[in-house]
Amino acid sequence: MSNAPITVSVNGNSIDLSGAKTVQAAFEAAGEPAKAGNLVDVEGATLEEGKGYQFSFAVNGQPGTDPTSPLKEGDAVVFSDGGDIEEESDSTDEPIPHETVDQGYGPIHMVDNPGADGVKTTKTGKISGKTVTQTTAEPQDRVYRRYYPDTGEDKVVALTFDDGPWDTSTAEILDILKANDAKATFFTVGNRIDDSTADLIKREVAEGHQVCTHTWDHAAGSGQGVNLSFMSKDEQREEITKGMKAISDVTGQEASKVIRSPGGNFPTEVWMNVEDLITAEIGWDIDTEDWRKPGSDAIAQAIKCATPGDVILMHDGGGDRSETVEALKEALPYLKKQGFRFITIDELMQYPKKDI
Ligand SMILES: [Zn+2]
Repeated sequence: MSNAPITVSVNGNSIDLSGAKTVQAAFEAAGEPAKAGNLVDVEGATLEEGKGYQFSFAVNGQPGTDPTSPLKEGDAVVFSDGGDIEEESDSTDEPIPHETVDQGYGPIHMVDNPGADGVKTTKTGKISGKTVTQTTAEPQDRVYRRYYPDTGEDKVVALTFDDGPWDTSTAEILDILKANDAKATFFTVGNRIDDSTADLIKREVAEGHQVCTHTWDHAAGSGQGVNLSFMSKDEQREEITKGMKAISDVTGQEASKVIRSPGGNFPTEVWMNVEDLITAEIGWDIDTEDWRKPGSDAIAQAIKCATPGDVILMHDGGGDRSETVEALKEALPYLKKQGFRFITIDELMQYPKKDI
């Protein structure tokens, strides 16, 4: 059967193949219906005509590369002109450094695109001796993104509490959260977690709250209290790793990689230095300023102003938090009545990013 002639279509014309039944044979039998490409130098100038690829082709619409491919009865082959072949060259690659850009606004801060260096290739043709430099891969920006979650129709807010754990107030807040079916996120200070407060951390976890670090000692080692920027690069990283370890030592689980920096001070220089340690840094939409002790009514008022997707900043530690406790007793039932649910930061981060 393999010796029987076959009929194929070549560029629309019927051709009989009785000997070899390959793409190459069809090309020859059809009288070479396409023109060969050229041998070109590194700049694309012709060195020798006709020394490129003899042809390009597709069989039944599928582009092919091997001219010895077999053909069968009824196959349709389309030949087009062969491509050029570039002279051999010596080449060297150099990276094109990527840029770092800050983008957007909002309470959730995360690296959106890791970025990548580009590649610049310099080659010298072995025949022509010419040298050309080309960008063979464009660099991609590393994007430090701040965004608002798009919670759509969902009336959800994220209650956040900093500076704990703290005697009495943390437990009182946990009681109020429980009474309102509320989940919250606690940004704890590592050196406050000890034998006397470990049970509070365990209770936070057991009751479905998210426990994160607010650094080891609130960046106090800088002498400026609330700003990682004033610390050395090593100290900045230690503040976070020690803060996370304090949590995992108590819970026996890996700590959340979501953090809140002391004072919310998180310039890009600090971010770049600690980004491998974290998945996100969290700011806020509503600052209740409860640490100033403006009275429980003022704090409650601030909480009640929440709109869907808001992150609300409060404190369960750092001083007498009785005003915060009183405010929550009033504001949470109020918001709950309006149809709000109280979710963790991890849950909030499940929503898409608003495009602002
Ligand atoms: Zn704080």
